[in-house]
Amino acid sequence: MKTGLITSDTYQNHDTGTGHPEQIARVSVIIDNFKKLNNKNLLWKKPSIISDEIILTTHDLEYINLVKKSFPKKSFSSLDGDTIISPGSKEAIFDAAGSIIAAIDGVENKEFKNAFCSVRPPGHHSSQNKAAGFCILNNIAIGCQYLLKKYKYKKVAIVDIDVHHGNGTQDIFYNNENVLFISTHQYPYYPGTGSEQERGKFNNITNIPLPAGTSSEEYLNAFEYALKKLEDFKPEFVLISAGFDAHEDDPLAQFRLKTEDYYHITKRILETTKNFSHGKVVSILEGGYDLKALQDSSKRHVDALIEFN
Ligand SMILES: [Zn+2]
Repeated sequence: MKTGLITSDTYQNHDTGTGHPEQIARVSVIIDNFKKLNNKNLLWKKPSIISDEIILTTHDLEYINLVKKSFPKKSFSSLDGDTIISPGSKEAIFDAAGSIIAAIDGVENKEFKNAFCSVRPPGHHSSQNKAAGFCILNNIAIGCQYLLKKYKYKKVAIVDIDVHHGNGTQDIFYNNENVLFISTHQYPYYPGTGSEQERGKFNNITNIPLPAGTSSEEYLNAFEYALKKLEDFKPEFVLISAGFDAHEDDPLAQFRLKTEDYYHITKRILETTKNFSHGKVVSILEGGYDLKALQDSSKRHVDALIEFN
């Protein structure tokens, strides 16, 4: 079976203004590269149209209404200090959330074995009722709730490899024993959360904070603990918050991962969970702000998804 690649052109309508790191080109470089490579093992698919009912599993009604009313007629407005929206952002935001729904349905319907969603804006800093850190809807949390509610899974793991702590995702699942949330991240750093003491009501949160300057070797050693937790939890489905901003070339953080590490990290997640999840893995783009590093690292991430059987 192929690997699903979920994307649409609407990310181009989400304009964050000149000089903003969370820029349109982030997804363009990934998509243009996959188009050029023309890999026959990829099955391209558009996002699903997402209903309010699905979003309401994750976000408060008041917050959803606030987001819907906030799109400016022209120019820009902001939902928090660095979360900018423009007139066309609405389609991009709802398509980003709809992409993970399309990916999950595709895996469940055996259209493809696993999937990567190349979309923006990212989602993992967004909580039930708050936009933050370029994130408006928490795409991966919406996907996770969809797995629990529609497909009745009892054990879903979210692995967040973005260099920033996935505080929004942690908040949403802090008291949910059906979800294991694992995050590796630079610490102390934005958004300030992510200490080892934040464990969740059911010990279902595993934070692996690492200092600025963390090398590939140090990261991969620390990641063994994440894999051990995954093995213990035995997830039936795995979601990956795929941020590529732990790369050594990234301008927003100070980890020193190399492009090739993303292949190994992905492969290790797949190998560790295959006996429980049978390869059911959906990954979605979070951060990653050096365009070349993002293009190459996401390609190696997807290579691991394609190769895995
Ligand atoms: Zn990040």
